[in-house]
Amino acid sequence: MNARTVRRSVALDRHPGWCAAGHRCNLGEHRADPLAVDIPGYGRALLTRVRGRDGREHAEVTLTVALADAEPHARAQLLTLAADLHTVLRRATRAGAAPRTAA
Ligand SMILES: [Zn+2]
Repeated sequence: MNARTVRRSVALDRHPGWCAAGHRCNLGEHRADPLAVDIPGYGRALLTRVRGRDGREHAEVTLTVALADAEPHARAQLLTLAADLHTVLRRATRAGAAPRTAA
């Protein structure tokens, strides 16, 4: 295990500075207060930082998107959303990679 993959152990008696504490981290994980991003008329995203029982951290994202009233428009929206989520996941994963060093 190198320095980048070392996991922090979850000590529920010591909350990290970003943890909302209280009832949110009683299930073996620490959870921040969710960050809400509202776009009126379009939807809402809730982002929550979580440290799991194994010490690994992740972002939990809940999206609420307004869909068209009729098919096939709603289905097309879902397909677009799925494709864009793929891009978001790739970009977010790359952003967490260790910076390259000059050889
Ligand atoms: Zn906590």
